[in-house]
Amino acid sequence: MLKSAAPAKPRQPRRTRPMTLAQVRSFLEALARANPAPKSELDYVDPYTLLVAVALSAQATDASVNKATATLFKEAPTPAAMVALGVDGVARHIRTIGLWQGKAKNVVELSRRLIAEHGGTVPRDREKLEALPGVGRKTANVVLNVAFGESTMAVDTHIFRLGNRTGIAPGATVRAVEDALVKRIPADMLRDAHHLLILHGRYVCKARVPECWRCVAATWCNYPAKSPPPASKPPKQ
Ligand code: SF4
Repeated sequence: MLKSAAPAKPRQPRRTRPMTLAQVRSFLEALARANPAPKSELDYVDPYTLLVAVALSAQATDASVNKATATLFKEAPTPAAMVALGVDGVARHIRTIGLWQGKAKNVVELSRRLIAEHGGTVPRDREKLEALPGVGRKTANVVLNVAFGESTMAVDTHIFRLGNRTGIAPGATVRAVEDALVKRIPADMLRDAHHLLILHGRYVCKARVPECWRCVAATWCNYPAKSPPPASKPPKQ
């Protein structure tokens, strides 16, 4: 009697090997050549409007935040004006973005605290920033990086995905990826790396299907399942 074949083992997805430090540098240099002056896509004019914009951007697109802040900052460009506008006034401008009720309260309260505790200015200090309502580690990292030029790494959903997918900084948690990036990226590249990675994740190394066929850094990426170009459509008859 023939033995029935053993059931095939399900194939394990191939894991991405961590990049070497030389690969990390070359990967980022390739992104930097394609985008020599990477910038935040949030609109702001000073550290205060940046802080508010970043606080509003949780679970919302930069475009939707910019639409809301275009009118909000006209009416309330300073902490004092924001407190005077009040929660209902802020809410009127930001109703189109996710979690607007909590965000309206936080923006007014953080503005009040900036006046009461920091003379109306944004502190250049992680602990003080994170003590403000609605300001977590990611927001503090963005403000320290963008407003104050510090080499911090704010890990959002794009950077978390890239860290693991490409092998630049694998990690099971957001904090593990942040720590690995800070450790593995050359110090002189760390500040710009934040925006380079976010923009690359947003526009090329997308969540569902990364567009590897047009990726300028593909040579140094260790993702084992790089996407081929989409099949060209047959010509119309
Ligand atoms: S090759 Fe593909 S997976 Fe690797 S960074 Fe580029 S887009 Fe992302």
